[in-house]
Amino acid sequence: MKGNITSSIKLLLILFLYVFLTLSCAVSSFAAAEDDQGEILTVGAPTDRCPIFYQDADTGEIVGIGVDLMRSAAKNAGYDVTFKSLEEATLKDALDNPSYDVLLPFGSAIKSTSGQTSIVSDNLLQTPFTLVTEGHHEMPPINVLKVGMLRSLSGAAETVHQLYPDIEITMYDTMQECVKALRSKEVNALLHNSYVWSYILQKPSYSDLEVQPSSMFSMDFRAGTADTSKGREIIQRLNDGIASMQDTERQAVILDYTSRRLYRMDFGDFIYKYWLFILLILLLFVALIIIGVQRVHSMRRKNEEKLQQMIDHDPLTGVFSMRGFRKRVVELLSTHPDVPYLLAYVNIKNFKFINDSLGWDAGDELLCYWADKTRKTLTDTETMCRINADRFAVLRCAGGDEKLKWDDSEVIDSVRTYFLDQGKKTRVQICGGVYVLTPEDYREIDVDHMLDLARVAEKRVREMRSDGYEFYNPEQWEKGKHIAEVINQLPIALEAGDIQVWYQPQVDYDTGSITGAEALCRWDHTKLGWLQPTDFISTLEESGLIFDLDSYVWDRVCQDLHRWNEQGIRRFVSVNVSRCDIREDRDIPEHFHNLISRYDLKPEQLRIEITETAYAENSELLIRTTEKLREYGFHVEMDDFGSGYSSLHMLKEVPVDRIKLDLRFLSDAGDPEKGKIIIGYMIRMIRSLGMQMITEGVETKEQAEFLRSQGSSEMQGYYFYKPMPVQDFEKTAPSA
Ligand code: C2E
Ligand code: MG
Ligand code: MG
Repeated sequence: MKGNITSSIKLLLILFLYVFLTLSCAVSSFAAAEDDQGEILTVGAPTDRCPIFYQDADTGEIVGIGVDLMRSAAKNAGYDVTFKSLEEATLKDALDNPSYDVLLPFGSAIKSTSGQTSIVSDNLLQTPFTLVTEGHHEMPPINVLKVGMLRSLSGAAETVHQLYPDIEITMYDTMQECVKALRSKEVNALLHNSYVWSYILQKPSYSDLEVQPSSMFSMDFRAGTADTSKGREIIQRLNDGIASMQDTERQAVILDYTSRRLYRMDFGDFIYKYWLFILLILLLFVALIIIGVQRVHSMRRKNEEKLQQMIDHDPLTGVFSMRGFRKRVVELLSTHPDVPYLLAYVNIKNFKFINDSLGWDAGDELLCYWADKTRKTLTDTETMCRINADRFAVLRCAGGDEKLKWDDSEVIDSVRTYFLDQGKKTRVQICGGVYVLTPEDYREIDVDHMLDLARVAEKRVREMRSDGYEFYNPEQWEKGKHIAEVINQLPIALEAGDIQVWYQPQVDYDTGSITGAEALCRWDHTKLGWLQPTDFISTLEESGLIFDLDSYVWDRVCQDLHRWNEQGIRRFVSVNVSRCDIREDRDIPEHFHNLISRYDLKPEQLRIEITETAYAENSELLIRTTEKLREYGFHVEMDDFGSGYSSLHMLKEVPVDRIKLDLRFLSDAGDPEKGKIIIGYMIRMIRSLGMQMITEGVETKEQAEFLRSQGSSEMQGYYFYKPMPVQDFEKTAPSA
């Protein structure tokens, strides 16, 4: 029993001991845990000094060399640290803020803004300060150096002052301002913490800056706080922590941060670094846009062209539609004003019958065949269209009768027999009208009007015959051919001397002597023989070429007069001036004046004939021209008086020297006796007006006698002499 009690007591003792030991362990581990947590130290530090202090972009935490070293020293001292970004502008201000337990970085103890003294820890780190210059620029000697620094480094600046009193320091707010000052040579170098340089110089646009190899001085990097009992205690403990820090640990922290590429490029850096690439991309982009726009344009143009093509062409035959034809004709006539053209309007008389009897398809086939056949015979300067249904229009160069016949047999004949050749009994009946273009048609191109005229001719065929073609006006066809020839050949004829000047003597019937002559042109045409002025003068007037001929004739006459003068023979010659020569822009009096000066002639040797018609058409300009000619001393004559265009009262207005009465106009038709009375009165009237006169077209002795009886003895006509070549004239009038 006693043994049982003893063992129970032993068991109780063991249990008690176990409970006691367990409890005391729990209490001591709780106390240890309390100890591990340590005191929390709030450290204020700037965040704008990467890699010493900066805010991690990802976590937002304050990190850096200074932070890691401080954390390590504090840990050694049994502190936990939280870092707080300095809100104050300077350390002095921050010293007065009680929410920081410790502040970083201090070089040495300073006074706060309110005058509170501070206390600093031992040196956490020695920070070297180095100079940065513009690459390749030599640095001046240290005693004349101008250095730029950030305003936030005012503490460091003071140290520089003490160490190098000759250095001139300028403070700037930002690093950009510092660099700008360096580049503009305001300063020779920039001074900053070497570790910070390692960060700043990662900026691409600072690649031209160079760190000088040796550091200028080193600054202490200490923690500091207000000099209070709490402050002293903290610093005391921190110093212990700093003392137990290894140098290798410091080196590792520095290496860790300085070897990282902490610099984050901003937009400006990006542009600076990749500007060429960006430019190329931009150019590529612009080029793509331009190409795109051009594509759209050309597609639009192509579509428009396609549309135009469709509108301008006949879908069945592929030849021009009326609209396309109009455009093409205008184009051809404007670019080839010298090509004589004819316009044909052609239509199938029995087309309705063909459609009804052989079917629409046969009709269509015929139209296509016809269009195709004609198109193949067209030259580049010709064109055709299908106006509508079975009506075609063709613009062809007027090549003459042969070409027309060829057209008829080559094209039209095969169309006529199109169905016969297929063994069907229908003969195609074709009616055509041809209009030959006049010079007027080239000046004012009216395709529809020309087609109307061709249609008039076609209508005549349709009404009178079953088949064939007609000219709108047959004479016009002849004339058209003629125009083409004259226009084309005049320059060559002038050059080759085929245009000659003939002289028709003028006589004084009283004395029988030759008093002068009229110069009349003749064309010795290589193919057609001698051409009279009536064959080509009006054509030249219409085509605007008359001045070329006239000025040639005037020149030849002056040459002859000059030669005769040289031979001592004084002659007087009348030359013809076309009304078309007299225009505002062509100073005819001046022209004649120059001519007589050139050939050394007296102005009265040249008599200038202007037709009565011309005075009637534009009396004002003609009167002015006449007056000027007379001022120069020329004799002006009114040609073809009596041709009936003018009213008699014009005689008093027109200041001519001599009237040239044309007998042919006055005696050709009507009662010859009445004609005589009129001529008699005219002569008396001209005399009474005090004007000289000559009568031309005198063919008989009777006429000559009558004129003399009326008191007019100056005459020109076949009764006396016909126009003759110059050699004959010289023999006929040896001394006139
Ligand atoms: P015009 O100036 O009235 O010339 C007179 C025309 O009458 C000449 O015709 C002449 O040959 C013709 N003639 C002369 N006497 C008689 C006659 O007794 N009976 C008949 N039936 N006719 C006679 P031509 O040479 O054929 O000239 C015709 C017209 O051509 C001229 O009429 C003139 O207006 C024009 N002409 C001639 N040469 C030139 C020239 O060089 N320049 C210009 N602009 N016109 C010219
Ligand atoms: Mg004349
Ligand atoms: Mg005349």
